[in-house]
Order: sequence, then C-alpha cells, then structure tokens
Amino acid sequence: MQKTIETEVAVIGGATAGLAAALTLGRSMRNAIVFDTGSPRNKPAAHAHNLFTRDGTPPAELLRIAREQLVLYPTVQIEQAAITSARAEHGRFTLQADNGHTYHAQRVIIATGVKDELPAIPGVAELWGNKLFHCPYCHGWEVKDLPVALFGNGEMAYEFTRLLYHLNKDLVICTNGPATFTEEQRKSLARRNVTVLEETVEKVEDAPGGILITFSNGTVLHKSAAYIKTNIVYHTELAVQLGCELTEQGGIKVNAQCETSVQGVLAAGDVAGGTPQQVSAAAAGGHLAGAMCNNLLAKEEFEKE
Ligand SMILES: Cc1cc2nc3c(=O)[nH]c(=O)nc-3n(C[C@H](O)[C@H](O)[C@H](O)COP(=O)(O)OP(=O)(O)OC[C@H]3O[C@@H](n4cnc5c(N)ncnc54)[C@H](O)[C@@H]3O)c2cc1C
Repeated sequence: MQKTIETEVAVIGGATAGLAAALTLGRSMRNAIVFDTGSPRNKPAAHAHNLFTRDGTPPAELLRIAREQLVLYPTVQIEQAAITSARAEHGRFTLQADNGHTYHAQRVIIATGVKDELPAIPGVAELWGNKLFHCPYCHGWEVKDLPVALFGNGEMAYEFTRLLYHLNKDLVICTNGPATFTEEQRKSLARRNVTVLEETVEKVEDAPGGILITFSNGTVLHKSAAYIKTNIVYHTELAVQLGCELTEQGGIKVNAQCETSVQGVLAAGDVAGGTPQQVSAAAAGGHLAGAMCNNLLAKEEFEKE
C-alpha cells in the first residue's frame, strides 16, 4: 500500500556523506530517513586509501561499520530505495521514492555522489578501481616507482602527468587518437622521457603483475597499472528539480556550510561542487550538513515557542 511518510530530514544517498550526515542527525535526536540505492563511487575498489585511521579498509566494510553504528540511534531509518523526484511546496519538500511511497521532509540533504564515465575501450570497465585508477592519492603509493600508463589527452593529461611523475618516472601517455598537447608541453614531456602514444587503444586486459594494453597497430604494452582521466557526471537531477544552482563543472553549488541556493536543501560529498572527492572529505561534508540541518531546525523551534 502506498503511504505518505513525514520526517524532519530526508538524506538522499546513503554512502559516506549520507551516512555521516545521518550519524550527526541521529545523535541530535532528529528524525531522518536515509535513502540509498547501494552504488557508491568506489564500489569497484578493493581498498580505500588516504583515510585517517582506516587506511586500506575495503569500501564496503567502511559502510558496513557506519550502518552498524547507526543502529544505536533510533530516530534514523535507512530505506533501500531511490528517490525519483523532488519538489518544494508549502515550506517543505515532497519526495517520491521507487518503493511507491511519498515522503515529506522539512530539510533535504543531497549526497548522491557522482559517476565516472569511462572511455569505451574493451576491458576498462572490468579493471576499473583495481588496476585502472583515477587518483594517485587513492592508489599512487601501491604502484609507486612502477611502469604505468595514463589514458588522457591535452591540458588535463599534462596537469595530471605533473602529479604522477613525482611517483612514476616510467610513464607513457595513451591519447587514443591525435595528441592535443602544445608544442611546449610535448617538449617538456620528451625531456622527461614521458612517451606519448597516439594509436587507438583496442583493448586493456588483466595480466600477471599488471595489465596488457593492445593498440590498433598491433603493439602490446605491459604496465603495472594505468590511470584514467574520466568524465565526471554529477548526480544532480533532484537538485535541479528543487531549483538548486549548479557550478560550472556541474556539481551542486554550496556555501561553506553545505547550504545550496535553495533554503532547506543542503548537499555534501562528491556531488557538492568544490568538495575534494575523497572519502574523508565526503564524511566531513556529511557531518557538517547534518549539523547545519539540526542548527536550523533547532533555531526555528526555539524561536517558535
Ligand atoms: C575507483 C575509485 C576508487 C576510489 N578510491 C578512493 C580511496 O582509496 N580513497 C578515497 O578517499 N576516495 C576514493 N575514491 C573517491 C570516493 O569514492 C568518493 O570520494 C566517495 O565515494 C564520495 O562519497 P559520497 O557519499 O559523496 O558518494 P558515493 O560514495 O558515490 O555515494 C552516493 C550514494 O548515493 C546513492 N544514490 C544516488 N542517487 C540516489 C537516489 N536518487 N536515491 C537514493 N540513493 C541514491 C548511490 O547509490 C550511492 O550509494 C575512489 C573513487 C573511485 C571511482
């Protein structure tokens, strides 16, 4: 049976940022419902690194602990459901979920994360997160001083190379088509023996000690790992429905307190524009968004009495 359910705070997205928000809300005795579809960005990775006190913990284990600790706080509920639409009306928010129910909330925290669009090269999706990486802070130590490739091109790839070169001197850039580096950048890369390969990449395969990269001209390279500059797609559909402004890059525009341009709607984690896209930053953002919701509600209640 379809129901209409009231809550003080609806948290959309129940991975790091959403569960961190829920913890702060639970400890503040706020009724909160967390909605989650179970696809955190780092799901394919075996370990989460660069994480204060939890370096190397599997991502699923971090979320398991977070959920387990939330059981202590009876005002928090987790719903395995997707929010499919959102609208603001009469000073509150109405959310439609794919479980058939409608939810009314006084405040909304959007913690829906982002999606990495991978290049359409056979084998990339299968190796993503384990031998194909996006970030040296997350995975750089594990492959430092080893031969690695970078899939990317132009300014972004050049900037990224500066960062990688500090950890990997044996570096090849696969542009998968004509390179778009400036003459100066080409010379700079050549001076450092960073090879640029413009041939089309046909496939990437798992191999003992690394990966095999096969090019259309038949060349096959063995590398320990590769980095990919992905196209990042922000999950902002609901924020847009609520009228939130976005940043130029496509994230949700927030101020230093995680507030969006729409009163009563906050955003945290990767989906919030300008937030460092790391687990610890997502957790910090979630706690802050949770605290801000509680502050605003407490102030409102206090002034009403
Ligand atoms: C391969 C890979 C490895 C990484 N490794 C590391 C690492 O080692 N260390 C590190 O610090 N960072 C790492 N990151 C970055 C890290 O994954 C993100 O910074 C972090 O996951 C952001 O957390 P979040 O809660 O904002 O978003 P997410 O973790 O992406 O969670 C968003 C959640 O919202 C849910 N959701 C989305 N839309 C809806 C909806 N409409 N209704 C209900 N639920 C919804 C999703 O299912 C998901 O569970 C890695 C990223 C990638 C791609």
